Amino acid sequence: MATTAKIIDGAAAAEEIREDVAKQVAEWVAAGHPRPGLATVLVGDNPGSQSYVKSKQKACQEVGLASFGHVLPASASQSVVEALVAGLDADPLVNGILVQLPLPAGLDEERILKSISIEKDVDGFHPLNIGRLAQKGRDPLFVPCTPAGVMYLLEKNVPSLEGVNAVVLGRSNIVGMPVALLLVRANATVTVCHSHSRDLPAIVRQADVLVTAVGKPEFVRGSWVKPGAVVIDVGINRVADASRPRGYRLVGDVAFEEVKEVAGAITPVPGGVGPMTIAMLLKNTLRAAQLT
Ligand code: NAP
Repeated sequence: MATTAKIIDGAAAAEEIREDVAKQVAEWVAAGHPRPGLATVLVGDNPGSQSYVKSKQKACQEVGLASFGHVLPASASQSVVEALVAGLDADPLVNGILVQLPLPAGLDEERILKSISIEKDVDGFHPLNIGRLAQKGRDPLFVPCTPAGVMYLLEKNVPSLEGVNAVVLGRSNIVGMPVALLLVRANATVTVCHSHSRDLPAIVRQADVLVTAVGKPEFVRGSWVKPGAVVIDVGINRVADASRPRGYRLVGDVAFEEVKEVAGAITPVPGGVGPMTIAMLLKNTLRAAQLT
């Protein structure tokens, strides 16, 4: 069947951002400033978190940012994690601090994130940054990275977000809710859906712009989508696939093959929103240095 939707290339967009960051870092350092640096804090040995942290450190090196990796055992106490974060917060060579989530059970995530200065909160999860995002006339110092990536792709693919009907599936702190706040700031009319929402297909059918962050493989069907809608699929879900060497493949929250026949534009999984997150983290780290 012919592809009708434009496929939004997140990898190419992320590459554009990385190249721009690399150029700006080189200029910043050439002007005599210290090299901007990102500190990563990994607690425990979750393989997914280890691999995310590794990719973030590698991406830093590729654009010329310094990266400082810190690893603590899963048994680390709240006070040990807080002491590490406080040390990084006081270190002038560290411009951004990224505490890899989720933290092992027993650690108070909110208290640890709150202990990062807002000026070094490059993940954008500090309650002050999120609070400012939610308030009219206030600006956060940093926008959370995945939501910033979603907005970048939307701004490139929707002529104007003014007054459009936007539906966000999911209301998590890290994706759904900040995306909804950003869409409101862009003057879209926003509906946020969650696990208690009734008749999702009817709500989704109203969407000129649909952002899905549910974490359920191929949940949104082609019949739910308004013809011509722009669909940004944040979901990254593993489904068993014996034909793949790893025994699984990644799919989004959207039934891509069906929805691409109806939508005007759509992000693939992988290769859509995924690559944007790290690109935005690099951008935020450079911004943190520029704000000092
Ligand atoms: P999450 O914290 O599990 O939140 C999922 C949201 O979906 C919740 O708000 C939940 O509602 C809602 N939901 C669950 N079942 C639903 C249903 N049947 N109908 C409507 N809403 C439903 O997930 P997340 O951290 O936001 O992540 C979402 C997806 O994005 C995951 O696949 C994740 O891997 C992916 N992700 C990708 C990136 C990236 O691309 N870089 C970054 C982060 C996350 P309630 O609030 O009522 O529970």
